[in-house]
Amino acid sequence: ITCLSGKRVALFGLGGSGLSTAKALAAGGAHVVCWDDAEARTQTAKDAGLSVADLRNEDWSGFSALVLAPGVPLTHPAPHWTVEKARAAGVEIIGDIELFCRERRLVCPEAVLIAITGTNGKSTTTALIAHLLKTLGRDTEVGGNIGTPVFDLKPLEAGRHYVVECSSYQIDLAPSLDPTVGLHMNLSPDHLDRHGSMENYAAIKERLIAGSRIAVVGVDDEMSEAIASRQDLARMPVWRISAAGSLRDGIYAEWPALFEAHDGAAEKVADLSGIDSLRGQHNGQNAAAAFAALRALGIPATEIAPALSSFPGLHHRMEMVARAGNILFVNDSKATNADAAARALSSFDRIYWIAGGKAKAGGITPLAEFLPKIAKAYLIGEAANAFAETLKGKAEVEISGTLDKAVRDAARDAAQDPAAEVAVLLSPACASFDQYPNFEIRGTAFAEAVRSLDIIRSSEE
Ligand code: ADP
Repeated sequence: ITCLSGKRVALFGLGGSGLSTAKALAAGGAHVVCWDDAEARTQTAKDAGLSVADLRNEDWSGFSALVLAPGVPLTHPAPHWTVEKARAAGVEIIGDIELFCRERRLVCPEAVLIAITGTNGKSTTTALIAHLLKTLGRDTEVGGNIGTPVFDLKPLEAGRHYVVECSSYQIDLAPSLDPTVGLHMNLSPDHLDRHGSMENYAAIKERLIAGSRIAVVGVDDEMSEAIASRQDLARMPVWRISAAGSLRDGIYAEWPALFEAHDGAAEKVADLSGIDSLRGQHNGQNAAAAFAALRALGIPATEIAPALSSFPGLHHRMEMVARAGNILFVNDSKATNADAAARALSSFDRIYWIAGGKAKAGGITPLAEFLPKIAKAYLIGEAANAFAETLKGKAEVEISGTLDKAVRDAARDAAQDPAAEVAVLLSPACASFDQYPNFEIRGTAFAEAVRSLDIIRSSEE
């Protein structure tokens, strides 16, 4: 990164993205002083040849910027005082996405930046946009909040497409965020601990949209619709998206069909039925969003539609891990609360449901409306007994205890089911910490248990 060349820069937070930003700044000629309150991380930075010092003892008047790593909560004591010091000295506080945007303007404005935000569906939509662009032969890099830090992506180059998921925290630290296409999915109360009020949270999301050349905005909740309307007033080109009804202008999903409408005239542009990775109404919104982002880039609908069908989906989010006869095995380990599990339960008709783990407040009480679809529930982990109590008289239940046993129990029962399609679904509505370090490891354990089933092994032979 050359945009801070010759300048003194403070950087706090040496996790993956902080470290990658520090290296990129140093390589571009900035004098970076970095710090983290975790010893192991400062050691890694020192080993990488970076200058590490306790930022408390530095002369802040000499710094041009404080770079904060994404994911460092401002309320955490150490960043809190670096932020105080920076504010007191009038030093601007920015993040990696801001630096990426400045660098793009400086060295390569011809690189295409597609930035994605919203409360839900960010990662799926980011991955889908990247998949579509790659399938259509575009030079595509994908990163940001979804995984790879932006400065670990291939260097800026004309025509290269950067598909970048932005958390609200990253947007907050990117005052000059100016994507080619800015996409805002939806808003629901989340992360309010960090952003204070819903209005403030919405205002942060709107900043990404307001800075865009072309906007794509989901209009299925009132606050997001208001964001879209304000862009109309500002004469910004906006593609509206919806999964909750038709639109006069924009891309909307009436699952499984996607429509493109102009001036009230709608045309069906894609069909999502049979695309396992895009099942469910919520994926209608994600597909509409990705479709609109490519349309905003001027790519014809007829080119985009065929590329949807090869989307592999993301791991652990309604991921189809195997199929045996009429049984689908679905890993939705990411569903760590009832709200997320509701999305999965609404996407299948007859379900052998594996649930449980470390329960969240409210348990599975909000899932009552889906219980008629549950052929049987297999309960695991700490929450098993409490969930059994909630389900009593409403669904058949087996306390399986472990995930391994639950998979075997569910497969045994599903194999007797004559329905045209049944799902053995891990959508635990719980955190994993009682039995697994994280939801990814839990999901991988599910997939392995499925693969070791006789019905899967024999069908693979
Ligand atoms: P994010 O990156 O915003 O957390 P993901 O794409 O990783 O979102 O999806 C996480 C979970 O959120 C999914 O498993 C699903 O339950 C739910 N989800 C996905 N897309 C949407 C959407 N458009 N609206 C509401 N919920 C969604």
